[in-house]
Amino acid sequence: MISTQTKIGIVGGGTTGLYLTILLKSRGFDVCLFERAPKPRVDGCGILMITSGLQALSMYDKELSNEIIQAGIKVSTYEFRNLKGELAFSNSAAEAEAENGFPAVVVHREDIAKALLRRINPENLYFDHSLESVESNNGKVTAKFRNGQSWEGDLLIGTDGLNSKVRSFVEPDIQPSYLGDAVWRGIAPNNHIFSEGEFIVFMRAHGIYANAFNIGQNRCHWGFFTECEQPEDEKGLHAPKNTQMPPEELAKLPDTIRQTIEMTPQENIVCRYSYDINPMQHIVAGRVIILGDAAHAKSPSRAQGMSSGLEDAVAFTNYLTSSTAIDEALATFEQDRLPIIHELQRTSREKSQKTGRTKKLQTTQ
Ligand SMILES: Cc1cc2nc3c(=O)[nH]c(=O)nc-3n(C[C@H](O)[C@H](O)[C@H](O)COP(=O)(O)OP(=O)(O)OC[C@H]3O[C@@H](n4cnc5c(N)ncnc54)[C@H](O)[C@@H]3O)c2cc1C
Repeated sequence: MISTQTKIGIVGGGTTGLYLTILLKSRGFDVCLFERAPKPRVDGCGILMITSGLQALSMYDKELSNEIIQAGIKVSTYEFRNLKGELAFSNSAAEAEAENGFPAVVVHREDIAKALLRRINPENLYFDHSLESVESNNGKVTAKFRNGQSWEGDLLIGTDGLNSKVRSFVEPDIQPSYLGDAVWRGIAPNNHIFSEGEFIVFMRAHGIYANAFNIGQNRCHWGFFTECEQPEDEKGLHAPKNTQMPPEELAKLPDTIRQTIEMTPQENIVCRYSYDINPMQHIVAGRVIILGDAAHAKSPSRAQGMSSGLEDAVAFTNYLTSSTAIDEALATFEQDRLPIIHELQRTSREKSQKTGRTKKLQTTQ
């Protein structure tokens, strides 16, 4: 067993980093979590958490997974509609629930973040710590932060998301790949339009697609995806410079969802370009490892993003506690986990590319 005196630094306080902090602390390790935001990030929109995400959370304790189920709405059906709003087909969620013992839920990201934060001692959290550089030599890691602080320890874990700084230490050449869509997401008053338990997809056609689901408390989450080429001077940017929704694209949606989008307060809407990252040969370098979106950001087409980060956290904690040395844990985890991650990346990108696009995607493999 690796000594619990092992000093572990985690960079990035999204759901992967928060859950990893909880798990590693529960096994007795000395953990510091560094987050660049000045305070806990409880922003975001609605999330479909598939069964594997709740299963991963239950590995800490069932109370945690139950809390998320209570905070959200259990999905009963996935409905696929055309752009006239007509039902094309629907799938029941019952089979996956019976198979895995957990439902899929739609829930506000804020409820997940708060449930995780409640289980972390604030003494282990360092906000306003934006990582600038990493060094790993002779079994030690040093992390330096923009605020002038530095940290030295035995193992550094990067859970710092799509544009990971830690990844640029592990695999400097990997950059996010543009998936061809600008995405708007928002939370609107539900006004009884979308029923509880229905996850509705307005299938991709004519260069757009959308989804919508009721997350309870009279709130509806929606996502609206429009195919668009990035202008030369916007390549690599988080979001378009002009975040105005194109009215001619919005007009292609059926009235129910279009009106829901139109009634959403501007402050409840976020706009981003959509990216994933190419499968990597390595997620480990020296005593540094990346997990979650930092290692395998994916298209949202299979709703696997958050769940696979939580699964990383469970798996990596188990490798650390069942190995006799840190280097052994890193090497065996990388070897065993990479094929699983690569498969998720491959199928998510494939689904994103196949679903009725008018333009061929130009992502690099
Ligand atoms: C449009 C869209 C829809 C999605 N829908 C779903 C869905 O329905 N279901 C689902 O499971 N997933 C979904 N996802 C994916 C999901 O949101 C992500 O996979 C998940 O949030 C990743 O969590 P993470 O903790 O790995 O990374 P993040 O949540 O990105 O967290 C990274 C953290 O690192 C911090 N950070 C970054 N750089 C630094 C630095 N230099 N120093 C210190 N801190 C730093 C950031 O501030 C942030 O807090 C969707 C994604 C998108 C884009």
